[in-house]
Amino acid sequence: MKTLTIIKPDDWHLHLREGLVLKNIIHFTSEFFGRAIVMPNTKNPITTIGGAISYKKSILEALPESSKFEPLMTMYLTDDTDKGELINGFKNNIFFAAKLYPANATTNSSHGVKKIENLYKIFESMQDSGMPLLIHGEVTDPEVDIFDREEVFIDRELSPLAERFPKLKIVLEHITTSYAVDFVQENNIGATITPHHLHINRNAMFFGGLNSDFYCLPVAKREKNRIALRGAATSGKDCFFLGSDSAPHLRKWKAFCGCAGIFNSPVALQSYLTVFEEENALDNFEKFASLNGPNFYNVPANKEKLRLVSRPNKITEFIDVVDEKNTVGKIKPFHAGETLKWQVEGIAI
Ligand SMILES: [Zn+2]
Repeated sequence: MKTLTIIKPDDWHLHLREGLVLKNIIHFTSEFFGRAIVMPNTKNPITTIGGAISYKKSILEALPESSKFEPLMTMYLTDDTDKGELINGFKNNIFFAAKLYPANATTNSSHGVKKIENLYKIFESMQDSGMPLLIHGEVTDPEVDIFDREEVFIDRELSPLAERFPKLKIVLEHITTSYAVDFVQENNIGATITPHHLHINRNAMFFGGLNSDFYCLPVAKREKNRIALRGAATSGKDCFFLGSDSAPHLRKWKAFCGCAGIFNSPVALQSYLTVFEEENALDNFEKFASLNGPNFYNVPANKEKLRLVSRPNKITEFIDVVDEKNTVGKIKPFHAGETLKWQVEGIAI
């Protein structure tokens, strides 16, 4: 039986939602990850220090007792972002980073930024104070084909931005193309890669009829892109690190309106491990999951260790969302019904 012991990982891109969903899903992350960067696109986006403090409080209250998990909060940038609030929040350790969503790029992003140049003054202050900028890298121009939106964003927005602010700590989130893989390496920025973009290409959304289970944003692309992403993630290179982009939606909404997002927290580590094993790169897994992120963000790696075992692991079809008495909904996890080869055994001393 193959086993692997690694430094406890962090999830550098995560959606925890609010209320009952938050309460029901947080343990999937808090059990096996030391920290997570929590995305601010809640129903009312987190745009103020007060908003971040109360969201963080609700996350901490939802944690299992004695959990040491640390949520790292982000501020949602808008056209009206107050520079003082942002930098103050960063200097006082309330915000870990700021998140840029182009307006309407994904779930709850209608408050996002309409013209990125309008934020250049803010990026200047972020660069000066060392505050990281996390980017959802897609244009929202309806003229641009949905499969091309990441590449067009890189050319139109990211490339000028990275050139103008060479010391700004930029992370291109959930990259989906070989174009992004190349850009990240050539421009000294960081990138997160999700487990689902390593497993599926765009065919998955159309297999057996329209299938919203595999609909996320940015959408999965052609096979050649998936292959490039697998190469990048398993390369051990410093600029690529784990960000699950786990994004739960209740089944009724996912099936009814096909909201974008894949819930992978319960299987993220096992899912990544499958890829690393297939690519003969298990030796690089600890870098991707536990070391490259802390290095990029200048924070220490976690102290605890995690033990992973190669053993058949049947993934449940649905995860129940319960209140005090009843089941009020279901969420389908990534790899539902499949048998994966790896299991997380637990914390190793
Ligand atoms: Zn996301």
